[in-house]
Amino acid sequence: MSQNICPSCLQDLEWQEGKYHCGGCSIVYIKKAFCPDCESELEKLQACGAASYFCNRCNELKSKSRVRIQFDKA
Ligand SMILES: [Zn+2]
Ligand SMILES: [Zn+2]
Repeated sequence: MSQNICPSCLQDLEWQEGKYHCGGCSIVYIKKAFCPDCESELEKLQACGAASYFCNRCNELKSKSRVRIQFDKA
């Protein structure tokens, strides 16, 4: 199951050079994650191959299933 969907055409995005690329729209997106509790932007941490998200304001890790993901045009 992919969470990486183009917000305009709803196709799967391609991972390319650290950014997400939509072939259909020719748009490059940056993925941002926001805290479900305080709406701050989260810091992505890579641990053991699995991504997790840390909120600096709440000072705790947030479950990937709860964070709000947003794609912004690069
Ligand atoms: Zn698209
Ligand atoms: Zn927070």
